[in-house]
Amino acid sequence: MKYISTRDVSATPVGVTSAEAIKKGLAPDRGLYMPTEIPALSMADLEKLAALPYEKRACEILSMFLTDYDREKLLADCSEAYSDARFPGGAAPLVHIGDSIYSLELWHGPTCAFKDMALQIMPRLLSSALKMTGEEKKAHILVATSGDTGKAALEGYRDVEGIDITVYFPVDGVSTMQKMQMTTQAGDNVNVMAVYGNFDDAQNGVKAIFADSELAKKAEENGFFFSSANSINWGRLAPQIVYYVSAYCDLLNDGRIACGDKINVCVPTGNFGNIFAAYIAKTMGLPIDKMICASNANCVLTDFIRTGLYDRQRVFHKTMSPSMDILISSNLERLLFLLGGAETTADCMRKLTDEGKYQAPDALMERVRETFYGYSCDEAETAATILATYKERNYLADPHTCVALGCLEKYRRDTGDCTPCVVASTASPYKFSQDVCASLGTPCESDEPAVILDTLEKLTGTVAPAPLKATLTMPVRFTEVCEPADMAECIFR
Ligand SMILES: *Cc1c(COP(=O)(O)O)cnc(C)c1O
Repeated sequence: MKYISTRDVSATPVGVTSAEAIKKGLAPDRGLYMPTEIPALSMADLEKLAALPYEKRACEILSMFLTDYDREKLLADCSEAYSDARFPGGAAPLVHIGDSIYSLELWHGPTCAFKDMALQIMPRLLSSALKMTGEEKKAHILVATSGDTGKAALEGYRDVEGIDITVYFPVDGVSTMQKMQMTTQAGDNVNVMAVYGNFDDAQNGVKAIFADSELAKKAEENGFFFSSANSINWGRLAPQIVYYVSAYCDLLNDGRIACGDKINVCVPTGNFGNIFAAYIAKTMGLPIDKMICASNANCVLTDFIRTGLYDRQRVFHKTMSPSMDILISSNLERLLFLLGGAETTADCMRKLTDEGKYQAPDALMERVRETFYGYSCDEAETAATILATYKERNYLADPHTCVALGCLEKYRRDTGDCTPCVVASTASPYKFSQDVCASLGTPCESDEPAVILDTLEKLTGTVAPAPLKATLTMPVRFTEVCEPADMAECIFR
């Protein structure tokens, strides 16, 4: 199977292998890589997959897309990435919370957020890709983070062969817990650096390093090249298809549905990666009917699905679901390509860059609306959903998950469609303890990580995830702070 750019308008696009697509990340024309065909999943396949544990389901699905990868190696990598040690109690458990709503808990990994589902396997896919493409230099991953991605990338890349990683975070721009998680990071190939300024300063610093040909030359002389762990890499998207298939298998195994029955899916969305993975699963043949795209107060996608106008020029809201505070949903480009073709995609993306907005053609929007429903929840609605979900369903969920649950409720009220629904639960409530405590009516004033976790435990009688508790007692390894202008220097030291 070959991969082509979403912006390649030539009559016969020349594709690259999946290893090359994963190594490159972004296509040379700045489009995103997409497989030339979507493999089919039959009901018989699903019944077979249902009998397998998660890591084997992952290997089966991934090998349908990564056809140039060695199967044995892929299985070994999946077994390690999704092992019990990394995901105690299973990689993506499904919990029924009443009314045929199923919470797909994607946060049982080392950093307690759904990014682990992709970032535990992606570094291994990249490591294999470097070998398969005969790359002799080491890859040096650079990440600027406002919190969650940095830690998940550090955990994923630590001690992976042929790769080093440096993560930059704004010195006053991350939560106490997030800072603790990063500065105590273990591993021989990791580096963590605080940067004076805000997230944009750190992000611009990383972009400047990528754009600097002198630095690239200097890196090459030292035997490495710079690479990113960006969420638009196919190596991050493909592993996310797996858990939707896996959720369907679990519903079958639990006798909740019969093979072929339709389900709906509701996803708290930022960059459109997670929900697009579900759409690929549907395109493969997984019986998904409607997909609810849930946004917080930054509702650019809700507006897009309803009007066809994508307009990034709007007020940016800082919310209690910060991983969804996004105005440019990069992976939406892949949906435009799949439903509208490369020419329309290239045209829309050019307008987005030049004018900050685009109007998608009506025919394309009709196809989008066959499947997608856009809803959003503001801060008050999210807080109310955290409280109601806890009180009425006896289920403690984080703000991102509750944006989705609130949107699902609106969808069901509007449409009367109560088809069993899988809701992607993307973070442990303990990662956002302060907002969760406040929503439950008991604000926690302290900024001390130990006190914050303890308050939520006492309030709800639940237990904080072991990896979060462990960071409380781990030694701090990284204490340096640098100026944005000195970010490159610390790599060569
Ligand atoms: C990244 C993230 C999201 C958004 O996922 P996308 O793939 O960017 O749409 C939602 N919730 C949490 C907790 C996240 O970390």
